[in-house]
Amino acid sequence: MSEAQPIAGPPGPLPGGLVRLQELANNLWWSWNPDARRLFEAMDRTLWRLTDHNPVKLLHDLKPDRIASLGTDPVFVRQYSAVLKAYDEYMAARGTWFVTQYPTLSTCTIAYFSAELGLHSSIPIYSGGLGILAGDHCKEASDLGVPIVGVGFMYPQGYFRQRITAEGWQQAEYVPFNRLDSPIQQAMTPSGSPCQVKVEMDSRTVSALVWQVRVGRVNLYLIDTDLPENAPDDRELSARLYGGDQEMRLRQEMLLGIGGVRVCRALGLSPVVWHANEGHSAFLTLERTRELVQTGQSHAEAAELVRQSTVFTTHTPVPAGHDVFPIPLIERHFSGYWEQLGLTRDAFLRLGEHPDTSRAGFNMTALAIRMSAHLNGVSREHGRVTRAMWSPLWPGIPQDLVPIRGITNGIHAPTWIAPEMNHLYSKYLAPDWADRSDEPAVWHRVSDIPEDELWAVRQTLKRKLMRFIRERAREGWMQGRLEASQVLAAGTLLDPEALTIGFARRFATYKRATLLFRDLDRLKDILQSRRRPVQIVFAGKAHPADEPGRQFIHQVYSVCKDRGLGGQIAFLEDYDMHSAKFLVLGVDVWLNTPTPPMEACGTSGQKAALNGVLHLSVLDGWWQEGYDGANGWAITSSPDPADPHAQDSHDAEQLYRLLEHEVVPLYYARDLDGVPRGWIQIVKNAIRTIAPRFCARRMVKEYMELLYAPAGSPQRKAW
Ligand SMILES: *Cc1c(COP(=O)(O)O)cnc(C)c1O
Repeated sequence: MSEAQPIAGPPGPLPGGLVRLQELANNLWWSWNPDARRLFEAMDRTLWRLTDHNPVKLLHDLKPDRIASLGTDPVFVRQYSAVLKAYDEYMAARGTWFVTQYPTLSTCTIAYFSAELGLHSSIPIYSGGLGILAGDHCKEASDLGVPIVGVGFMYPQGYFRQRITAEGWQQAEYVPFNRLDSPIQQAMTPSGSPCQVKVEMDSRTVSALVWQVRVGRVNLYLIDTDLPENAPDDRELSARLYGGDQEMRLRQEMLLGIGGVRVCRALGLSPVVWHANEGHSAFLTLERTRELVQTGQSHAEAAELVRQSTVFTTHTPVPAGHDVFPIPLIERHFSGYWEQLGLTRDAFLRLGEHPDTSRAGFNMTALAIRMSAHLNGVSREHGRVTRAMWSPLWPGIPQDLVPIRGITNGIHAPTWIAPEMNHLYSKYLAPDWADRSDEPAVWHRVSDIPEDELWAVRQTLKRKLMRFIRERAREGWMQGRLEASQVLAAGTLLDPEALTIGFARRFATYKRATLLFRDLDRLKDILQSRRRPVQIVFAGKAHPADEPGRQFIHQVYSVCKDRGLGGQIAFLEDYDMHSAKFLVLGVDVWLNTPTPPMEACGTSGQKAALNGVLHLSVLDGWWQEGYDGANGWAITSSPDPADPHAQDSHDAEQLYRLLEHEVVPLYYARDLDGVPRGWIQIVKNAIRTIAPRFCARRMVKEYMELLYAPAGSPQRKAW
């Protein structure tokens, strides 16, 4: 139910001196500020762990006498005041990069539309890389002062929680999440009433309520249709991320695109730039055109204005990753709408036509490309692949002149840095390294970090991962959810001293999670060497409707349960941003084996590298531009991609050979003090070369300079 609810908070009032803890917990800024994180942790370490680091729930669950005693604890009160001071200074936004670069534009707004937003595990409105990238984009925009406003969905049931049965099958559990335990509040219009919008579809009107999430200086607005005045089906519309059939999906996308523009209007916002992050929100271009046509402009004029101020980012070359709706479904939902755009039926349908007419249907990527003048893919290589895929839309123009850029994804460093690594960087690079993460000079000082200190931190992070795995398994065992064999498959036999490889991401088949298993005997020899043992941790969800993906999980899980493998291969259930922070940061090697060129970019390897985890990956996505021969390992894929079987064999052979001859020997080549100097050298190379280039700071600056500023210029001469 989405009736007005009170702001989440503790059962009793906070003591006078601590009253703004509530405000801190309700702005996700805390999640990437180490002092704010420590502040909440200090309130109750056990509860902090039990809530999966969720301060809203922590404040809610904390005993009143504990809160009262913190209010009189001078150490805590001092800590609190310091965090609050930093927060107030941050929010005042003086002297940000944006203000310095674009001083006359302080009042402009850039609308950023994304169907999923990965901000924190307490707001489960993301499924994987796309969402987390969107979340990192918003956080970095906040840090840089870029005036973004986000528009997305509130999914009351979130994305599913993954359970693996004893037989090794993924089960999807949809758990309604408790809004009172999340930093989510009702959005208000400028006149002080709850923000609501309406969208007509298929001859009825759907109402939506809007929720607000604060991400530092950036506000996100989330659309929710679970309102009593809606028909039961419509109330379910925004219930789940990527749930339901094509019709449900189309209606969701109408809500996001058309409804999202109306949300901006209801909030009194007039964005000068509109960014559609992936094709799901492409209908926003139609709604904006409709607005202009309704004020008396011709369709052609209106569409051109919209094009010039729209930015579109496409995220995948995988065909199934592009929404295509059947024409009859589109007709049913848009008849009556195309007249308001000043278009005939045929002209309307042509907007979503794929250049290859055998691929009939209304293609959301085609619509977005036609209606946006500022386009990009998400890595250098993906830019090239996208230009080739869509060049028929620019007849007569050579492929490499097709106006689609490649802007390579990067990660929000303060979100993805382990506290222990942050400490090292603050000490040896610069106290403000995170504010300068895109400056190569800062990272040159990595060579100053003493090898034994760096090694000790890496060992600590691995121990923390193993403890996390053990506690998860213990909990499942005590709750009666896991059988004994599952407790072992969950990784309780892992050895913190052994070389540990991580593989975790969505179980889409092109990511080839099972590539390592092509020759199980050879793999066993690698893992079970007495002197140089190796172990592997897997994690990831398959989309519930992706049967081959579910089969892959089943296959991996069977290997995890195989006695012959001695518990050296583990599967960590329910991969999300919280477990990612243990897994990606805690292993020694991060493995990535997509079939090229399917991985548009990939970001988890960037998170790993920032923390000194070495990347072993197919040369695809970001690794094509990140790998330099001395900062990790590359699998150069087979030259014959027409035969997938041969390609898999070829790639697996390279992978085994790299492990046998390079990765394992280097890891176990130790000095008398037990430190693997050669390994640490590569770790330092990786950090130095990868961190400054594949961070969101570099990425958001590029979006600003190459896409947002040009898209804003017709409206604002000053851009
Ligand atoms: C970073 C991240 C991803 C993205 O993984 P890639 O396959 O590298 O793009 C997916 N899921 C979670 C939970 C992540 O943190």
